[in-house]
Amino acid sequence: MRVGVHTSIAGALENAVHHAKRLGCDTFQMFSANPRGWRALQPTAEECQRFRAARERYGHRPVAIHANYLINLASGERALRERSIAAFRRELQRALALGADYLIVHPGSAKDSTRSQAIQRCIGALKRAARGLPLDGLTILIENTAGQGSALGSLLEELAAIIAGASDELSTGACLDTAHCFAMGYAIHTDEGLEDIIYKLDALIGLERLHVIHANDSKAPLGSRVDRHQHIGRGQMGKEAFRRIVRHPKLQDVPFICETPIDRPGDDKRNLQMMRRLALD
Ligand SMILES: [Zn+2]
Ligand SMILES: [Zn+2]
Repeated sequence: MRVGVHTSIAGALENAVHHAKRLGCDTFQMFSANPRGWRALQPTAEECQRFRAARERYGHRPVAIHANYLINLASGERALRERSIAAFRRELQRALALGADYLIVHPGSAKDSTRSQAIQRCIGALKRAARGLPLDGLTILIENTAGQGSALGSLLEELAAIIAGASDELSTGACLDTAHCFAMGYAIHTDEGLEDIIYKLDALIGLERLHVIHANDSKAPLGSRVDRHQHIGRGQMGKEAFRRIVRHPKLQDVPFICETPIDRPGDDKRNLQMMRRLALD
């Protein structure tokens, strides 16, 4: 089992690697710039080199970058879509420069248009953003969402359509967020519900294309379509749910990354330890 957390780049990009090492992560996720701003400095060659060297030394694998939250590749508003494509292209460039394995992005929102039109726009935007970039070793992961508002990708069918639609030009796969599944109404916290979602993932996307699981408990109830992460085992999903998830034979090769809150210092380490304990005892 490979497990890690989302770590902070405060101070310097390479701090994410050192922080992940201190916590005892096998893998980690980070932002490569401010996730809530459009302006992002591209890292210098020296910063990238320091990041890569630290990561090499500690052996973290895989390294995932989560894209900016403002990006909406599915937007029907031309200006926002163009801005999103340019920002996502810079995300791709940073991920490549840092040697990341995965760039995780939410599919965007379908406001003022049909969902299938928005899905097509998202596919086209992904391809345009990546045009001409050599994406060696970098896979774009589309993350399922909690179903809030007109957000796309809460249904596995929508995720599958985007992943498949872009795959003729790009290396694409899925990132599954457990709290988003739960909020969307997938009963991933029960034995039967977990089997059902694994069956659907395999049938619609292929389990071999599920590259990251965001392991998060949920403050919001099943089917609420509200995205509120909670510490592992302390939310509405509960400990047993995560015991089943981390032990599932079909999920053994998938890395787990916690995006749980830090309410008190040490919460990230405690969530990591909880995941390891649930896998063993
Ligand atoms: Zn996300
Ligand atoms: Zn997530």
